[in-house]
Amino acid sequence: ACKRLAKLRDQPSITKDGMRVEITANVGSIGDVEIAVKNGAEGIGLFRSEGLYLGRNEVPTEGEQFVIYREALERMPGKRVIIRTLDLGADKRAPCLGLLREDNPAMGSRAIRYCLSHPALFCTQLRALLRASVYGHLALLIPMVTSLEEVHRTKALIEEIKRDLDNEGIPYANNYEFGVMIETPAAAMISDRLAQEVDFFSVGTNDLTQYTLATDRTNRSLSALYSPRHPAVLGLVRMAVENGRRHGVWTGVCGESATDPDLIPVFLSMGVAELSVAPPAILDVREKVRALDLTKARLDGRTKGF
Ligand code: PEP
Ligand code: MG
Repeated sequence: ACKRLAKLRDQPSITKDGMRVEITANVGSIGDVEIAVKNGAEGIGLFRSEGLYLGRNEVPTEGEQFVIYREALERMPGKRVIIRTLDLGADKRAPCLGLLREDNPAMGSRAIRYCLSHPALFCTQLRALLRASVYGHLALLIPMVTSLEEVHRTKALIEEIKRDLDNEGIPYANNYEFGVMIETPAAAMISDRLAQEVDFFSVGTNDLTQYTLATDRTNRSLSALYSPRHPAVLGLVRMAVENGRRHGVWTGVCGESATDPDLIPVFLSMGVAELSVAPPAILDVREKVRALDLTKARLDGRTKGF
């Protein structure tokens, strides 16, 4: 099986009926990026930057972050690297952030909410990212968005940082992409408006499932209820993909369900352009995509059963 998959390393990810898909990697460190390269990733679909902050007493400096982001970009020449800004809340141990205990951390001050209420911390990360942008094809991704205001405030901070960098004579690229996670029902419901503000959507089915079905993703006793195949979840995904398309915004899926063999044809039929998966799953997903005939899958109704 390993040999069979290894042959797919340099093969394109294309369905039998000719739809081109990008199969990229979910990573949390430079070590993961290396594994992604070995497995033929067509880019990084999700770099979870949380790892830089976890278990530390001091927040990572701009310089430290810059070095890591630059390295991720340099290891993926010519390929897109999507780096997600800090996505942490009170459920995680990050002594450097001084997070207060919360009764309901999944619905608390986390991710973009936490970042916007701690602008110094957020700006340090955004500056490091902008400085790294000259070393490759960078895409910035904002987690857990629920409102347009969050996007506007983030963009305003970025503009401020660019002015500072200009004044300091520090270079940054202007062709980086900017996207939001679609991982709350609110984001999917306002995706028509969000699409006018961004270059791409990244659907996080892990959280979208949790928040849509009111089912804690970490509660094992509820695993029977926790289903990304639920029509309510897939309806929201479809809404985002279609609203995006109308505005020329492409959509990727980076939740665990991007590896679900029953959902891959469903997502691709909707028009999802990218599947981002754990590095060891890349070749397996590529094999599944290459075996798919979407025209036939639609006729068989295999993309409608959810
Ligand atoms: C998701 O929510 O689907 C996602 C990809 O992000 P994370 O698993 O890091 O919350
Ligand atoms: Mg998430």
